[in-house]
Amino acid sequence: MNVSTLELFNKKPLIIAGPCSAETEEQLMATSKALAASGKVDVIRAGIWKPRTRPGSFEGVGVPGLEWMKAVKEETGLPVTVEVANFRHVFEALKYKIDVLWIGARTTANPFSVQEIAEALKGTDATVFVKNPVNPDIDLWVGALERFHKSGITKLAAVHRGFGSYGKSKYRNDPHWQIPIELKRRLPELPIVCDPSHICGNRVCLPQIAQRAMDLDFAGLMIESHISPDEAWSDKNQQVTPTELESLLDALVLRTPEIQSEELSHTLASLRNEINEIDDELLHLLSSRMKVAENIGVYKRNNGITILQNERWNEIIEKANAVGSKIGLSEQFLERLLRAVHQESINHQNEVMNRSTVSKP
Ligand code: PEP
Ligand code: MN
Repeated sequence: MNVSTLELFNKKPLIIAGPCSAETEEQLMATSKALAASGKVDVIRAGIWKPRTRPGSFEGVGVPGLEWMKAVKEETGLPVTVEVANFRHVFEALKYKIDVLWIGARTTANPFSVQEIAEALKGTDATVFVKNPVNPDIDLWVGALERFHKSGITKLAAVHRGFGSYGKSKYRNDPHWQIPIELKRRLPELPIVCDPSHICGNRVCLPQIAQRAMDLDFAGLMIESHISPDEAWSDKNQQVTPTELESLLDALVLRTPEIQSEELSHTLASLRNEINEIDDELLHLLSSRMKVAENIGVYKRNNGITILQNERWNEIIEKANAVGSKIGLSEQFLERLLRAVHQESINHQNEVMNRSTVSKP
């Protein structure tokens, strides 16, 4: 997939900011003017058509909002972006010369809608930002980008806004950083913007997520900002004032992925060698562990014992947590690591137990 180099991203990080929703012309204009005055915002965003979870809440102002966006563009000189979710939205947004169209998380999750929008954009020079789908499925995200690409849209970028999960989480949408990292590996030319607002769902964690995105070398940030967040008609808990946004952006530490001096590159190379050695050792240890598991498999097979014994699994977890807490390994990490190791051991044992000829250990 060849994506065009987007001039927008000549500035790094690209900052997109604006209210969750355009509510009134005054609210949108006041917010946008304050954001533009900070000199730190490159694109103004606002939702005109709002995908709401439950019916009956504010669902956006619709087409009149596009007129206000046009006025914002004239007043601030900044490009503007809105979300489009069907061909009618595309038609209206293009009529009002909206600079960037973004595809919302709920839309990306639906290939029919994405296809409809991609076809509506055929033959245009549109710039499209594709948010990740609500569910943590990288192929669905890539698939949506491909649909646009196949329609001849090459001015593309992705927006990481976190993924929905059932149950308790400190995030509104779990970041699952490994997914955008994998997207970057698969499509290295594609700029990825992080949207901390929809990941956090509150104001407190925005700086931490924004910093994390910068440290992972994301190309930009999309952050919701409202002239008076407490009175916002949607997503009020996560919006910040333009002044708060300015402080947040000022506090970001921007690092570079390039290694600038020989000394730095030397130090980094030797630390990386150390990591490589340790990884090698880890892999050999894991392989030895699997061999022991296979021997256990043979023993269990010969004595008619099942592979899985719950008490043993609990014992492994408890033991690891007791050690882990003393040596700086989090419970969450250990749980994930051991679960993977345990699953692989079970697979090895299963192989041994159900093999037709088995030799004794
Ligand atoms: C938004 O940006 O206001 C929005 C609705 O986002 P998402 O599609 O990520 O939920
Ligand atoms: Mn929002």
